[in-house]
Amino acid sequence: MTDGLQLVDTHCHLNFGAFKDDSDAVIRRALDARTEMIIVGAEHKSSKRAITIATRYDRGVYAAVGLHPVHLQETEFKEEGTKVITKAESFDRDFYEQLAISPKVVAIGEIGLDYYYLSQENAEAQKKLQQETLRQQLRLAYDLDKPAIIHCREAHDDLLPLLDNFCRAHRVAKEKLRGVLHCFSGNWDLAWQYFALGFLISFTGLITFNDSWDELIRKCPLDKLMIETDSPFMSPAPFRGQRNEPARVVEAAKKIAELKNIKLESVAQATSENASNLFKI
Ligand SMILES: [Zn+2]
Repeated sequence: MTDGLQLVDTHCHLNFGAFKDDSDAVIRRALDARTEMIIVGAEHKSSKRAITIATRYDRGVYAAVGLHPVHLQETEFKEEGTKVITKAESFDRDFYEQLAISPKVVAIGEIGLDYYYLSQENAEAQKKLQQETLRQQLRLAYDLDKPAIIHCREAHDDLLPLLDNFCRAHRVAKEKLRGVLHCFSGNWDLAWQYFALGFLISFTGLITFNDSWDELIRKCPLDKLMIETDSPFMSPAPFRGQRNEPARVVEAAKKIAELKNIKLESVAQATSENASNLFKI
């Protein structure tokens, strides 16, 4: 199936409850398919667990640690049918810094802005808190010279100026703050603005059943693209409705190859090279 191809799933959550019984079997399947992966944390427990899992493997399995914006408030919601309960964690720099110095940690993430689940009463205060927490985590990424894995949902208008201001405020060369917009949701114009700030974009299996990004992907230079599964979410066609896993990241690569009318090998090689350069893996 993926014979001869080397792929990197740059964003998966094997640290989530959906994989509590069989994360090792899932990882084995991916490694057998020559697919490496980055397990991404969302709050303190899943960040720690990402490292615990990655440490079991000599190579091919990496971790990212960070506080996702939805975990800043106490709430309960459903994500693709899975119940998510959050506890209102505040960002503890010392805690995340201690985790981030583990040799398995290749990025700070996922961090970002998510305005989708804001409650109406205090939406403005929640936005401000998300922005301040993001700035603190960008600072951590910058100080440790690690890339940021950024989540953005319905918040590009605030995210772009925030990233731009961060670079100016810290008087850093823009290429020093690097990262990726994971599961990219914007249009070509936004993508181009993120590229100008030195960021890449990555796509999940969503592109196999939703054509909203077809035109953007056709136009997008290969050196700006990465692939991911966001497992257990975003299961690609033809596996819709099933729990997603890293071995299926090849489906996103196939779709990109089809849209750009190039060989799957070229997509595999470029996206893996981009991941290896960005995350130093
Ligand atoms: Zn994620």
